[in-house]
Amino acid sequence: MEKVLIANRGEIAIRIIRACHELKLKTVAVYAKEDEYGVHRFKADEAYLIGAGKKPIEAYLDIADIIRVAKMTGADAIHPGYGFLAENEEFAQSCQEAGITFIGPTVSQLRIFGDKVTAKQIATKSGLHTIPGTTDPVTSLNEVAELARKFGYPIMLKAALGGGGRGMRIVHNEKELETNYNRAKSEAKQAFGSDELYVEKYLDHPKHIEVQILADQHGHVMHLFERDCSVQRRHQKVIEFAPSLTLSEQRRQEICNAAVELMKSVDYQNAGTVEFLVTDSDFYFIEVNPRVQVEHTVTEMITDIDIVQTQIKIAAGQDLFSEIGLPRQEELTMHGSAIQCRITTEDPENNFLPDTGKIETYRSPGGFGVRLDGGNAYAGATVTPFFDSLLVKACVQARTFKDAVKKMTRVLNEFQIRGVKTNIGFMLKVLAHPIFYTGQAHTTFIDDTKELFI
Ligand code: ADP
Repeated sequence: MEKVLIANRGEIAIRIIRACHELKLKTVAVYAKEDEYGVHRFKADEAYLIGAGKKPIEAYLDIADIIRVAKMTGADAIHPGYGFLAENEEFAQSCQEAGITFIGPTVSQLRIFGDKVTAKQIATKSGLHTIPGTTDPVTSLNEVAELARKFGYPIMLKAALGGGGRGMRIVHNEKELETNYNRAKSEAKQAFGSDELYVEKYLDHPKHIEVQILADQHGHVMHLFERDCSVQRRHQKVIEFAPSLTLSEQRRQEICNAAVELMKSVDYQNAGTVEFLVTDSDFYFIEVNPRVQVEHTVTEMITDIDIVQTQIKIAAGQDLFSEIGLPRQEELTMHGSAIQCRITTEDPENNFLPDTGKIETYRSPGGFGVRLDGGNAYAGATVTPFFDSLLVKACVQARTFKDAVKKMTRVLNEFQIRGVKTNIGFMLKVLAHPIFYTGQAHTTFIDDTKELFI
């Protein structure tokens, strides 16, 4: 492997370009017209416009054009990042047909985990508990009422094509059912083009715990411990940290080993994450994300393993231990505690509506134990409405969680960003809240805690 095309934008494209350059690989960026000043374009050795004439997001989904650039530049591998085409089977297949290495799992693994129902079936087979729910879309209100009686309220209605935390609705009792069912259907239709819904038992106050997996092409599968991503707003992650503060050592082992067994059962390759919802008494599989995740950073900080570099080496056929040189599972240790805050250009005072405009001032923090992964974050940059609102990921690492919280508080206070609104002030309130800094936050902590919004 000599040259890698990065089929993405923003911070993750830059993250991947950095990994490639450290490995002495040449890089090719692609960019939509609206990203002509995108930093990723200038960090790569070469950059090409894709999807000319298309809408901004569609440009990054233009498989044929991306493959064209890869062939034209002689790129022998493509890293898809997260989002866009990262979990797209057709894209992985097209790379394969063009003789280009797709830096990710195989086409059939993407297919398995792309369908939440198949994924749940495979998880059940591998001995994991899953949340009680339907395996086929529901067809009528009566059917939902019947299921709700069987599982017990509250239940959750989930759009079959939903994702990224969107398309979910909680129903607390029978009285709410009809209105919520109709709303969920029309919202699903509007947002995802299909009004198909699944029903699941709603778990009360779970924690979202996920396990980072690395797997090579020689049958080795290992975990890099867990991340706690319970701090969410409307089912979307806001702050992530590693390790969890509430898992007992025995439960940690159980969850991490279960994740490894699941991935072994499908001969998984490359990096992936197994997600669970954890209650006091049990843990339930929710899904596998067959790609690098936004929050992979915190795992890197407590294990010193570069996940993106490892993805590339795995795709090049290297063995996790004898060639890449990772410690064996039983020798792998973690140190200290790491936290990531997703700094977005959203206005907490206006229902977190994305803000746009020119960044007039941008001064970023630094210092011991601090890592910033930014996209287009600099004075003079224009924040457009075309892409997601993630501006920069701030990560810190310290000896204890409490020290990490103190460091993150200092880091967020050190930012000076003018010209666009950000969620920094909101995040500071979260960090200062006793439920957060004792590591107790569960998935509805933000949505339930009114004082964060005052
Ligand atoms: P997506 O694929 O849209 O990200 P997930 O199924 O991974 O959706 O769920 C995202 C978040 O939604 C979870 O971390 C959790 O907070 C919440 N959630 C999903 N399913 C349930 C459930 N059955 N009970 C309680 N919370 C849930």
